[in-house]
Amino acid sequence: MATFAPMMARRRATKVVTLVPGDGIGPEVMSAALAVIAATGVEVEWDRQLAGAAALKRYGTPVPDALLKSMRHTGVALKGPLETRVGEGYRSINVHLRKTFDLYANIRPVLSFHGVQTPFRDVDLVVVRENTEDLYAGIEYEVTPGVVESIKVITERASRRIARFAFEYARREKRKLVTAIHKANIMKLSDGLFLRCARKVAAKYPGIRYEEQIVDAACMRLVTKPAAFDVLLLENLYGDIVSDLCAGLVGGLGVVPGANYGEKGAIFEAVHGTAPDIAGKNVANPIAAILSGAMLLEYLGHGHPAQRIRAAVGSVLRSGRVLTHDLGGKATTQEMTDSVLRAVGRSGRAGKGASAGTP
Ligand code: NAD
Repeated sequence: MATFAPMMARRRATKVVTLVPGDGIGPEVMSAALAVIAATGVEVEWDRQLAGAAALKRYGTPVPDALLKSMRHTGVALKGPLETRVGEGYRSINVHLRKTFDLYANIRPVLSFHGVQTPFRDVDLVVVRENTEDLYAGIEYEVTPGVVESIKVITERASRRIARFAFEYARREKRKLVTAIHKANIMKLSDGLFLRCARKVAAKYPGIRYEEQIVDAACMRLVTKPAAFDVLLLENLYGDIVSDLCAGLVGGLGVVPGANYGEKGAIFEAVHGTAPDIAGKNVANPIAAILSGAMLLEYLGHGHPAQRIRAAVGSVLRSGRVLTHDLGGKATTQEMTDSVLRAVGRSGRAGKGASAGTP
């Protein structure tokens, strides 16, 4: 099993981590992640900060200065989902944080778990999404009433560095194929530039196969033959959409973790949002948040505890006895968390030499 270790050098020894519980189901799944991290014995000092709707309610702003100050100090955060209203209200705080701290690489490992019923049993791919530009540049205006424009920004610098990240990731994780996904048949300039950059970088990695696919065809192929993919390299918007599609291949948003890496820091967060339809009901699946916590531990240099968490999650899902509603079970968030905690405890008693196992 791939470890999904970060490729950035760890620049700080500190274990102070900014913690953003988030909105909606955020506080429920984040407390599960914290409990599981604590069960590994790794000591983390959490600097708890509000953002999004919770911060707006408490401080009158969705991005308090205290949050930015904390992030500048720690350089690393574990974050719950944040609410962004559709078609109104403040701009996405997630996008704001990623741009402010230049967290340009969004990594989302998508892995099948035995015990989770899906059409495919052995999906194992990684979405590498550019995180700072594209239509998320936030340049939108009304030209005249009834006519609006949103600008798609693609630069050579950002395209090259995300391509380099994808190939370095592939090299480190011994992955064989990087597929650049695009719509350069229509957006010949913007997606054309993205592809040219990817090709130039690909030429420097002769040991890794490089392919290109148009985004619509890639979506069809992902849902019919996911084994044809390994590392997916995408611009921001396609990456966002294709991530959720990929999550659907392995049981849904409740099981896919994520990380946003930059040169100077990282934010770890699940792919899913605030899930307002189930918030506060103790039914949300905590696995994506727990696995994001494992990615954080790995980043902090705790590879073995991270692996214990993954193995614990794998054994809970494999047994199929304690599953939340989204996975076809009846367990609550708390029951699922307790089950993972017991599995982490067992792996601890089995000793440091115990096999990490695979999901
Ligand atoms: P969503 O991910 O919140 O929910 C989509 C569907 O998946 C819902 O049916 C939900 O119940 C289900 N789901 C999501 N996570 C789950 C979990 N852990 N366990 C069980 N079921 C789960 O997406 P949405 O409804 O499109 O967005 C809701 C809000 O979240 C919006 O304000 C959006 O902007 C925000 N959002 C935030 C982030 C983030 O902070 N990183 C990411 C995506 C969406």
